[in-house]
Amino acid sequence: MALMITDECINCDVCEPECPNQAISMGEDHYVIDPQRCTECVGHFDEPQCVQVCPVSCIPVNPAHVESRETLWQKYRRLQAAKATVGGG
Ligand code: SF4
Ligand code: SF4
Repeated sequence: MALMITDECINCDVCEPECPNQAISMGEDHYVIDPQRCTECVGHFDEPQCVQVCPVSCIPVNPAHVESRETLWQKYRRLQAAKATVGGG
C-alpha cells in the first residue's frame, strides 16, 4: 500500500530526506507522497521510514492505493530499473 500524508502535517521536513524512493515532496499546503513511488519502504527497509520519523503521526495508509506486498515489490523493481536507466545509483 502506498502511504499518504494528512493535513495534520506540520511541514517539519524530517521525512522527505528519509524516503529511499524520493516519493515525498512539498505539496501545496503540506508534504505529499507520490503513490507511484511509495513502496511502503518494501525493498529498502522493514518499516516505513517516514512513519518512523514523523513527530505527529500523520502518515496513514492511502485507502485509494491498497496494494499487496507482491505489488509493492513490483513497484520497487520498476523504480530500481528506472533509476538504472538514467544512470543513477
Ligand atoms: S513509506 Fe517509505 S517509500 Fe513510502 S513515502 Fe514513506 S519513506 Fe517513502
Ligand atoms: S515528518 Fe510528518 S509532520 Fe514532518 S513533514 Fe513529514 S509528514 Fe509532515
